[in-house]
Amino acid sequence: MKEFVQFLRHPSPPPGWLRWTRQLLPPLCWKCGIVLGGKTYLDPASPFLCSNCLLELPWTDPLFHCRQCGSHTAEPDRVACQECMEDDWDLAESRSGFAYNDIIRHWILQLKFFGQEHLSPLLGRLLALSFQNSTWLEKYDSIVPIPLHSSRLRKRGFNQSLLLAYHLRKNLRKNSPEIHPD
Ligand SMILES: [Zn+2]
Ligand SMILES: [Zn+2]
Repeated sequence: MKEFVQFLRHPSPPPGWLRWTRQLLPPLCWKCGIVLGGKTYLDPASPFLCSNCLLELPWTDPLFHCRQCGSHTAEPDRVACQECMEDDWDLAESRSGFAYNDIIRHWILQLKFFGQEHLSPLLGRLLALSFQNSTWLEKYDSIVPIPLHSSRLRKRGFNQSLLLAYHLRKNLRKNSPEIHPD
């Protein structure tokens, strides 16, 4: 039964006839398993998570971060945190969509080290959602995924950064920066 519920969960891509069966069934929230409002698994408008699970994610507050390194700050709107003020380094700006804890950490580890490639559409979409009210991406020309060493790429079978960039781009506005792999 547990396997069956897991199989129904979005966005686990079922193979062959399971995929066909899956189209007749409603998508379930990837985190808590309740039935989502979308029509079918293949409905591109279907969300991956129910609204409760979406709200519970550790979203970063864009006001409370260092603009240079992206770390959480106690005071709002800091151009640079204490560490960045003391260190002279070449990173102009950085952002993160979520705090690296709870379910986000679990999903990233599953994607990177346990071959759970199907998590990339979910994470890319969440990343795009976290940037939807911000214009900072507009000033950049390209999205460049971090390259993966060829030996690791052979072992893993995919570059998780490229997958995330692809699904991030897919959920951004049409005029968003293009992806330029290395
Ligand atoms: Zn849920
Ligand atoms: Zn900083």
